[in-house]
Amino acid sequence: MSTAGPPQGAKAPLGGSEAHTVAERGGDIHWIDTHCHLDAQEFEALAPVLRAQAAIKGVAHCVIPAVEVANFEAVRQLAHTLGDSYCLGIHPLYVAQATEDDLVRLDAALAHHQGDPRLVAVGEIGLDFFVPALCQSPLREKQEHFYRAQLQLARKYQLPVVLHVRRSADRLLKHLREVGKGGAPWLGIAHAFNGSDVQAQAFLALGFKLGFGGAVTFERAAQLRHLVQTVPLEAIVLETDSPDMPPHWLYTTAGQRAAGTAQGRNEPGELPRIAAVIAELRALGVNELAQATTHNACEALPKLAALLV
Ligand SMILES: [Zn+2]
Repeated sequence: MSTAGPPQGAKAPLGGSEAHTVAERGGDIHWIDTHCHLDAQEFEALAPVLRAQAAIKGVAHCVIPAVEVANFEAVRQLAHTLGDSYCLGIHPLYVAQATEDDLVRLDAALAHHQGDPRLVAVGEIGLDFFVPALCQSPLREKQEHFYRAQLQLARKYQLPVVLHVRRSADRLLKHLREVGKGGAPWLGIAHAFNGSDVQAQAFLALGFKLGFGGAVTFERAAQLRHLVQTVPLEAIVLETDSPDMPPHWLYTTAGQRAAGTAQGRNEPGELPRIAAVIAELRALGVNELAQATTHNACEALPKLAALLV
């Protein structure tokens, strides 16, 4: 299929900009996918194959966030099997079904694995005010309670946080300021960031990096493209959020899907091509973008550095 990488030893495909071709070939250029759900059902047993294909394209490392207690062990094992890293946390879209006991189990898992060099953050946590039911009482309050409790656990175990931000930036920032008051600056990533310039600056001021992925490949994403062009290079980390957030070349409209065209599957191997789009938007060489974003990822998630050598 078109999303698969070239077989090992094959020449890079022709076409596209020079930067694009170099990025897809991999070579000496290394990328970090700071957010990919390699344990997702969509990948089934293919995760190791897709991961190997991504490596051929230059994806040196993947960060695999958890979404609920039930997948903690899966992400941990996958990270160890694949030589990648993982985060433990309860995603806002899984809070509705979560119980208070899940926070106790997260605390216990963080305590148990705190010496694991591959456990790099508490995540994926945050607030989702896009889904209408989650914006209203009592789920709104439950989301905020779980988010805040998990921020406190990140403080307790001195781990960065990987944040899910969807129509919730100001509220996320409020809790970060309150929970972090008087302490060390936060470390972490506002993943799939798509807020205003002011919100971007506020996350950066608190110590966060901003995660950019396939959404920037859509020409109509004007504010997001403006952001990725104008934030300081030190602010940017890259991600696919696979299997979600397909770049435009994998995206099919509802009409196309109704007519039988399947949605292309996003995967970590798409990262170099997404990165080439960002490099072009910033008028940067892909090599320069790769080096900067790798450095930034290690600043956001300090345990990564030891895993990259
Ligand atoms: Zn995610």
